[in-house]
Amino acid sequence: MKKLLISAISVMVLTGCSAADDSTVSESSVKSLNTALKTKPLKKIFTHEHEKEVKDGVTYIDGILIVNKTIALPADYAPGENKVARQAVEWLIADGDKEGMQFVIRSGYRTYDYQQNLYREYVARDGEQAADKYSAKPGHSEHQTGLTYDIGSVASANDFRISFGDTPEGAWLKNHAHEYGFIIRYPEGKEHITGYQYEPWHVRYVGKRLASEFYKNNKTLEEYLGLYK
Ligand SMILES: [Zn+2]
Repeated sequence: MKKLLISAISVMVLTGCSAADDSTVSESSVKSLNTALKTKPLKKIFTHEHEKEVKDGVTYIDGILIVNKTIALPADYAPGENKVARQAVEWLIADGDKEGMQFVIRSGYRTYDYQQNLYREYVARDGEQAADKYSAKPGHSEHQTGLTYDIGSVASANDFRISFGDTPEGAWLKNHAHEYGFIIRYPEGKEHITGYQYEPWHVRYVGKRLASEFYKNNKTLEEYLGLYK
């Protein structure tokens, strides 16, 4: 027992020294340390501290612009279509084309006012509760960032439907969007995290490196940025 305690303390000292590099401490070693010392879990070691910044009403976490059901954009935030995202989506469409896909951009940049009208129409048609599952309230649409596209196919029958995911275009998008820097922003099975139903057509530009990480780890932006626990 004495030996265990000594090794536990040495781990503790070690973690104290290497606080800046959490990856060197394995979770199991700290768990056993906690058991040995009967202390509260050393939560901080594993909680990656995220850096939140609000610039002119726009929220960035770890430098990534975030908009969702709870974080809004100001009504006057009107950056237009992002040029880098545009170039990326054009490459995606061109490469898809070479493999027999027939992609079409169904929706891109939308202003606050446009979203407001759209949302009002949906609420009038389906009621607020139903509309909230598939549409964003004004200020909460990712389309206002200029980084987002709704992709469809020339055939169009499955556009804006969950069944788009089962079309050749939908399947290709799911497997290749990250190669162009896009993520499927509202993935299947993550509805309770994103607040949106599965939208296999809605892609958000985050850059290639990050998009590949999301793709590999099957993570949503909310999980990645520590907004969902
Ligand atoms: Zn969309």
